[in-house]
Amino acid sequence: MNRILATSLAALLCAPAAYAQGFDVTVLGATGGIQDGNLSAFMIAPKGDPRAVTCDAGALVAGLIAADAQGSLDGITPPEGSDFTRIGHTLTEVIQGYLISHAHLDHIAGLIAASPDDSAKPIYGLASVHDDIRDTYFNWKAWPNFGTSGVEPHLGKYPATVLTPAEQTKVEGTGMLVTAFPLLHSGVESTAFLLEHGGDALLCLGDTGPDSVNGSGALAALWQAVAPLATNGALKGVIIESSYTSERPDDLLFGHLTPRHILAELGQLAALAGEDTLKDMPVIISHVKYSLKTGASPQQQVLDELQSMDTLGLRFIMPQQGALLALGAQ
Ligand SMILES: [Zn+2]
Repeated sequence: MNRILATSLAALLCAPAAYAQGFDVTVLGATGGIQDGNLSAFMIAPKGDPRAVTCDAGALVAGLIAADAQGSLDGITPPEGSDFTRIGHTLTEVIQGYLISHAHLDHIAGLIAASPDDSAKPIYGLASVHDDIRDTYFNWKAWPNFGTSGVEPHLGKYPATVLTPAEQTKVEGTGMLVTAFPLLHSGVESTAFLLEHGGDALLCLGDTGPDSVNGSGALAALWQAVAPLATNGALKGVIIESSYTSERPDDLLFGHLTPRHILAELGQLAALAGEDTLKDMPVIISHVKYSLKTGASPQQQVLDELQSMDTLGLRFIMPQQGALLALGAQ
């Protein structure tokens, strides 16, 4: 009896440590246009649990091919007797759903391209995003209707899970919860997704301009909501966009961020969360545009600017397609 009690107690005491291990982020698409095949997409799973969701799906199969070639999918093995390659198994069995921040092509092209051979799974998004996906792509003109509403017939592969702002929703088939926060981007509603699992949190932002340029309080509301998670150490990382370098004038941002705006916005979060709370926190920079011009790479320029202007002690990561990033692992 005592031994059973002791075992149960030990299991209980061990539980938080066993769960709070951060997230694995596999970079399926790192850039923000114009590089087809490498557009915004991050596969996210709690550490030690392969069941994943993607934050945006600008690249999907191309990203899985790159990840497989780099050994980033080595922890995923198709079951014995499976007809699928590791890439096929990951697409159809490991990825349990898609979080789509907005319906711009560079955030959903991979999903559309993969749809005929994909497995059925939900798309998670705000109501306006689902409307745009249905009306723009799944309309039997741009593409067959793989959704569950709109122009008939409905192929029904991707049921729409409508997220209510600031309300937690289960990511089905995974142990994660997601909360959506609306953002403003170039005339459309975009989204920040807060993923939570076992006391850990990860924030993935879609495209957005800074509050100061948008004349909105969307990011301020997001920082307000996320600040307690930064204060208590639950926030293991942020994925945020920087489409341009800091010299880009505000009137030509088209609803995007630059290093100086990222630092100003994360400064707002730090001001709410408390001094030093963001120190060493990984910040993955998405959506830097591929450059067709000679000279310094914009990726390197953005990274240099962030590191030289940072006063918060953040750990900036410029992701490469196919890379596996461990966030918050002990
Ligand atoms: Zn974009």
